[in-house]
Amino acid sequence: MVRVMKDFPTHSFQTLQTPFYFYDTALLQQTLDAVSAQLARHEGYRMHYAIKANANPVILRMISAKGFGADCVSGGEVQLAIAHGFAPKSVVYAGVGKSDWEINIALDAGIGCFNVESAAELHVINELALRKGVKAPVALRVNPDIGAHTHANITTGLAENKFGINLEQLGSVLHETLSLPGVEYKGLHFHIGSQITDMLDFQALCNRVNSLSHELSRQGLPVGDINVGGGLGVDYEHPDNAPLADFDAYFDVFRRHLDTRPGQLVHFELGRSIVAPCGSLITRVLYVKEGTSKRFAIVDGSMTELIRPALYHAFHLPQNISSDAARPVTTYDVVGPVCESSDVFAKAIDLPECHRGDFIAFRTAGAYGETMASGYNARPLPKSYFSTDFL
Ligand SMILES: *Cc1c(COP(=O)(O)O)cnc(C)c1O
Repeated sequence: MVRVMKDFPTHSFQTLQTPFYFYDTALLQQTLDAVSAQLARHEGYRMHYAIKANANPVILRMISAKGFGADCVSGGEVQLAIAHGFAPKSVVYAGVGKSDWEINIALDAGIGCFNVESAAELHVINELALRKGVKAPVALRVNPDIGAHTHANITTGLAENKFGINLEQLGSVLHETLSLPGVEYKGLHFHIGSQITDMLDFQALCNRVNSLSHELSRQGLPVGDINVGGGLGVDYEHPDNAPLADFDAYFDVFRRHLDTRPGQLVHFELGRSIVAPCGSLITRVLYVKEGTSKRFAIVDGSMTELIRPALYHAFHLPQNISSDAARPVTTYDVVGPVCESSDVFAKAIDLPECHRGDFIAFRTAGAYGETMASGYNARPLPKSYFSTDFL
C-alpha cells in the first residue's frame, strides 16, 4: 500500500540537514488531551509519563505542562524530569540497579516514590535515607509472572526476568519494608512489558493485582496504592488509520477489572503510546543501488538515529514524502549507511520510485527513537524540529 503524505511540510525541509526528527506538535497535544480526558473520569488515577520513551526538552515541557508526573529509570532522568517542570512529588523511580549517587539525588529532590526491585536495594535505600535523616517513600515492584504477548526483549513481567520481586518473596520483603525506619511503604508497582495491544494482557494484570491485594489484606498486611506501569502499544503498520493509541479500551480495562478501595490511587506509566505517533525520522535518499535480485534505497539515516529495526526487528513505515502520486511503485530494501548488516529499515517494501534527494519519512518514531540515538561511526546526534517551527 502506498500513500503520499500531504501533512509533512516537505518544502520547508529542503534547506535542512538530514537525518532529523520531526514531531507533530498538534498530534502530541491531541494525545495528551485524550489521556487527560480519561484521567479526569477518576479522582484516583495518576499519569507518570515514562521519560525514557522520549526526553526531548520540548516534549518534556509539553507533557509536564499537562500536569502529568514522570516515570524515571535513572538518576539522570530524575534530574531531567525536575529540570523540565515535573513536580518532584510526581516523580517515580524504577530500575533494578540504582546506584548510591542516583538514590541520593532522588532523596535530595524529594521524589514521590522509589519503585524498589529487590530486598538488597530496599536496605540500601533505607540506609542512605537514614544518613540524610529522611524517610524514603517506597513501592515494591512485583514481578507478576504474566507473559505479555509481545517481543521477548520487551517483556518484563515473566518469572525468569531481572525485573521486580517474585511473588513468593513479596510477603517477606513487605514485612521488612514495614520494619525499616528509613522507608515509608506506599504500595505495589507492576509493569508487564511494552507494545501490548491485546487488552487481555492488562486484564490478566488486573486479576493478578486483585488476588494479590486480597491475599495481603487477608494476612493483615497493607496494600497501599497501585502502580500498573505502562506498556500500551501503537499501530506501527497503519500510522494514519489510528493516529492515537486506543486509550479508551486501555483505561476501560482498568475501570472494569481493577478493584480499588476508597482513597486508593492508581498510577499509570505510559511512554510509547503518548509519544510514538507524533514523531518521524526524516531522511534523504542518497543512492538507489541495483543488486542482482533486489533494489536498495540507501538513505542517510541509520540505526544510530533509530535503532529499533536493528535491535528488535521493529517496523517503521517508510514513506516517500517527495513523490507525487504519479510515480510508479517499485520494491526496495531501505537501508542505512552504517557498517552493520543489521542497519536495515525495511525489506521488500513498495514505495513510489525513489530518486536521489527524495525525503523518506520513517513513521511512528517518536518513542525509543531519539532517546536511543548513538554516536556510532562518529555520526552526529540527530536534531529535532517541530511542526510549529514551520507555521
Ligand atoms: C519503560 C517503562 C514504562 C513505559 O513503557 P511503555 O511501553 O513505553 O509505555 C513504564 N514503566 C516502567 C517501569 C518502564 O520501565
